[in-house]
Formats: sequence, C-alpha cells, structure tokens
Amino acid sequence: MSPTVLTALFVCALLAGLVLKFWLATRQIRHVAAHRDSVPSAFADRISLSAHHKAADYTIAKARLGILELGFGAAVLLGWTLLGGLDALNQVLLAWLGPGLPQQLALLAAFVLIGGVLDLPFSLYGTFVLEEQFGFNKMSFKLWLVDALKGALLGALIGLPIAALMLWLMGAAGDLWWLWAWCVWMGFNLLLLLIYPSFIAPLFNKFEPLQDESLKERVTQLMSRCGFSAKGLFVMDGSRRSAHANAYFTGFGASKRVVFFDTLLKSLTPGEVDAVLAHELGHFKHKHIIKRIVSMFALSLVGFALLGFLSQQLWFYLGLGVRPITADVQGVNSALALLLFMMAVPVFTTFISPIMAQLSRQHEFEADAYAVKQTDAADLKSALLKLYEDNASTLTPDPVYVKFYYSHPPATERLARMGA
Ligand SMILES: [Zn+2]
Repeated sequence: MSPTVLTALFVCALLAGLVLKFWLATRQIRHVAAHRDSVPSAFADRISLSAHHKAADYTIAKARLGILELGFGAAVLLGWTLLGGLDALNQVLLAWLGPGLPQQLALLAAFVLIGGVLDLPFSLYGTFVLEEQFGFNKMSFKLWLVDALKGALLGALIGLPIAALMLWLMGAAGDLWWLWAWCVWMGFNLLLLLIYPSFIAPLFNKFEPLQDESLKERVTQLMSRCGFSAKGLFVMDGSRRSAHANAYFTGFGASKRVVFFDTLLKSLTPGEVDAVLAHELGHFKHKHIIKRIVSMFALSLVGFALLGFLSQQLWFYLGLGVRPITADVQGVNSALALLLFMMAVPVFTTFISPIMAQLSRQHEFEADAYAVKQTDAADLKSALLKLYEDNASTLTPDPVYVKFYYSHPPATERLARMGA
C-alpha cells in the first residue's frame, strides 16, 4: 500500500465516523426532547413527570457534551497523526535521549500524560458541572484530585513495567514477537482481573462486609439456590463519589465476591436487591463473563498479529504522519507503531460497535430471564424502574441510537420481555 492510500482511507473513515456519530447524537436529543412532556403509558403509574423531565434533561445534556467531545477527540487525533504532533514529540525525545528503549518508553509516557491533560476540561466539566447540576456528584475537588493522582501513580507503577516489557519483546523476540507479546498481555489481564477486587479497588473505595443479617441470609439463600459460592458479600461506599447506584459480581476463583453500592441498598427493598443479584448471577450461569473474556483474547490475538504486520510497513508510519527513526522499521520504532495502532484502529472499528452492542443486549435479556426464574418478576421490574429513575436514565431513547450504542436494552423492552 502507498502512504497516500492509507491517509485517504484514514481520513474517510474518520469523517464517516464523525458524521455518523453526530447524526446519532442529534437523533437521540430530538427524540428524547419530543417525548419529554409525557411519561410513557406503561410507566405512568410508577414514574412521576418531574422524574421523567429530569431523565430527559440529563440525557440531552450528556449527549450535547458527547458531541463536543466527539469534535474535540477528532481534532486531537488529527493533531497527533496527520498534523505531525506525534512526529514532533518523537523528534524532541530523540534529540534528548537518542534512539533506544528509554526514548520509546518516554514517548509512551509523554503521550499518555499529554492525552490526560487534554481530557481534563471534559472530566472536570462532566463531574463538577453536569453531574453536579443533576445532583449526582458527591465528590469534592480534593477527592477528585487525590483520585487523579492515585490513578496516575498506579498507572505508572503497573503501566511502565508492562510497557517496557512489550517494547523489549517487539525489538528482541524476532518475527513472531507479536505472539509472545499477546501471551504476556493475556497473562497481565488475567492477573489484573485476579488482583483488582482485593488490591486495586480498595485503594479507591471502602469495602465493608454486609452487616444487614436478614439481607445476608436472603442473599446467601439465593446464591446457594443458584449453585454459587462467593467469598464475601461487601458494601462499597459508592456514595462518596456519586449518587448513581449499582451492584456487581467480581473476581473469579478464590477472589469471587459480591459488591453492593451503598446507594443501591438505600433505595431497594431486600426482594429487589435479590432480583438484581439474580440478574448478575444470570450472567454467570449463561457464561457471559467467560465468553467475553475468550472473545477479548481472540480479538486481541488478531490485533497483535495485525500490529506485527503493520509495524514493519513503512507506509503505515508515513501514511499516518510520522517519520520512522530508521527506514528499517523494526525495533527502534516500536513505540510509534503501538501509538499509531491504538489511535488508528478505533477509527475503523467504530462501524462494528452495533454488533457488540447487540450481543450485549442479548446477554441482558438472558440474565433478566434467569432472574425472573429465580426470584419474583415483580421485584425485578420494580428494581429496574427504581434504578432507571435514580440514575435518570431516559425511558424514551431513540431506537437507532439504542441499536448503535446501548449495552442494555431500554426499560420498555426489558419489562415487556419479563411480562411475556
Ligand atoms: Zn446485566
């Protein structure tokens, strides 16, 4: 391929993706606004008009911010690639450090750091203006800052060694380096899954064993009825940061545990908590988690093989606006190849996201069906409605927007299925 063809493909895909996402966001805004003034009849007795208004306004505000982020993200991407940002950063670091592993590691770190700073305004606005305005944000600026610093430190402690190992493999492990790198990457991901619940999550939140004896009894009964054992039932202080509610089942093997947000326990009855947990157990019974992990493994193998090929093609670098360090593009350009790959691939894979979303919605239906079998359907219905209301999720999303983005089916569809 010639560099010019890649440039043309990249620009076309980026523009097509932008137009598509902009169209979807404006559809969503129009649809939600058009249905703002009446609660859908199926929910009229459960959801107040003021809650419906809040959900509409929140959804629209988020979609508007999304449009801004979309435009900004595309500009930053062009800045890094075709407008020469990554090339300039690479040249500066080359002049300072010379070619080699330290230079490449510095390039990755500088890229991540600059990206984080560019995202700051959106992160701050999202938390302290948008979420604040709708009463969801519970974070002080100090807590936000501590979180950000902890996250950066943790990212450096975990990310730098694994990045160094990857770069080293890319340069030293021969033509099949990508296969070795894939093995390391998979091992690293499994390790993260294993240590996340016990070692990483507690750095950001407090986890206390569930105290409520009657709820504990109920939940334990449900779990043994469904054939599950977990090492513990925990309550997480989600209310420290946000009023959004949730529950999850995490870890595998010996680190398996159930985590309830304190915000969830405050708003749901014990029967409803049971139903929500049964839904989560449904994901396990149907092996959704394993399927997701296996497909992630398979996709990343394809990704690494593609990266192995692309990293040796001169046109890959030139077509995306970067001069490789030497014409023999293996080894010394590994960090460039990694960064270009991570930036370019999503531009092309945007168009398959409806398939992923469809699969995920299918899984949600299956988990709902499982929960209905194990607990009371009425409990699951009322729990879902409470969660939709508490999270100000709209009951009237645009159907095309749903097809493209929604990982969970809209409330109307979920409740209709449960009734059937
Ligand atoms: Zn689910």
